[in-house]
Amino acid sequence: MDGEGTGTDAGIRTMRPCLEPGCGMLVERGRCPEHAQERQRAAHRSYDRRRPKTAARGYGGAWQKLSRAYLQTHWLCEDCGHRKAVLVDHVKPIKEGGAMLDPWNLQALCWSCHERKKHVERVK
Ligand SMILES: [Zn+2]
Ligand SMILES: [Zn+2]
Repeated sequence: MDGEGTGTDAGIRTMRPCLEPGCGMLVERGRCPEHAQERQRAAHRSYDRRRPKTAARGYGGAWQKLSRAYLQTHWLCEDCGHRKAVLVDHVKPIKEGGAMLDPWNLQALCWSCHERKKHVERVK
C-alpha cells in the first residue's frame, strides 16, 4: 500500500476536461453539467425505447385492474394452496414471452411462494 486509492482526499482535486468531445470544460469528473444533463436525457430516451410500450403501460392501469380482479376470485395461493394470495404473478414470465394481460398466464401467490419463485427465477 502506498497510500493511493481509498479516499486520500488532501483537498487537491484534479480537474479534467468534460468527457464530451470538443467541449473542454474542466470538471472534477465525467461531464460538465450541461453535457451530463444531455446524457441523462439521452439515456432516458433509449431506456424508454428498449421497453415494449405494452409492458410499460401494462404495469400501470390495466395490469392493476386485472390483478386485483384476479385476486378477488383466487384468494388462495395457487402454488402452496393454503396461504392467502397477496399478489398475482405470471406463470410464464413476460421476459420469456408470456402474455402480461392474459388471465390464463396468471397465478395468485402468497408472499413466501412468490419470494421462492423469484429466487428460483434469478438462479436459473
Ligand atoms: Zn461538456
Ligand atoms: Zn403459497
